Amino acid sequence: MIYLKTDEEIELMRDANQLVGRTLAEIAKYIAPGVSTLQLDKVAEEFIRDNGAIPAFLGYGGFPNSICASVNEQVVHGIPSSKTILKEGDVISIDCGTILNGFVGDSAYTFCVGEVDPAVKRLLKITKESLYKGIEAAVEGKRVGDISNVVQTYCESHNYSVVRELVGHGIGRKMHEEPEVPNYGRRGCGPLLKSGMCICIEPMINMGSKNVVFEKDGWTVRTKDRKCSAHFEHCIAIRPEGPRILSSFEFLEEVLGSNAI
Ligand code: MG
Ligand code: MG
Repeated sequence: MIYLKTDEEIELMRDANQLVGRTLAEIAKYIAPGVSTLQLDKVAEEFIRDNGAIPAFLGYGGFPNSICASVNEQVVHGIPSSKTILKEGDVISIDCGTILNGFVGDSAYTFCVGEVDPAVKRLLKITKESLYKGIEAAVEGKRVGDISNVVQTYCESHNYSVVRELVGHGIGRKMHEEPEVPNYGRRGCGPLLKSGMCICIEPMINMGSKNVVFEKDGWTVRTKDRKCSAHFEHCIAIRPEGPRILSSFEFLEEVLGSNAI
């Protein structure tokens, strides 16, 4: 069942998502060579709680931390660890969620650690652009497949591949609601987009093959060929006037300045 949100509920969704955006900005201040992903997790948890919210990921399906921190070939769901120390040239996807006033926010961004290989930077840039192309297609009266198709077509036209095993999703009082929002698919297919729908669009794009491996820790997903992967996610609402982005990269991009992707 797809829950359509009222105008008031969409405002609450926005509050939760803006807090995710501000949390990502707080994390961005600490991303540097020598920092562990567990340190970033602590920054996030403290910031979320200081702002009167609950980390949505902590305990979700048994997940042990407040952010997913996925480095280089890790696609998503990396578990923060004191043993995972960032080094110059890494890229790290930070996925973060909050629960505020009963509604969930969910957004992700892939950051560069120091100077990154231009070919990897390009993967990040195209993945982020594909997210915005997906958002542009999220128009009332169109279908989920129109979003999926534009993300897939754009990334594949740049010779990247789209992960199949993980998809975007509806969101609201729960982090994962219907419908699924795949990053691959056919135009004109899938559920109809209606005003009041809130969805997360989150391209997970690989430099090499689309194949992934689920690690034995029960969470981490990495590319099978160990080539780099990128992940960007926004939460949006379908509105009569067009898609409205509820999350924000503006806060973190202010921190990154000219180093933003
Ligand atoms: Mg997420
Ligand atoms: Mg999500």
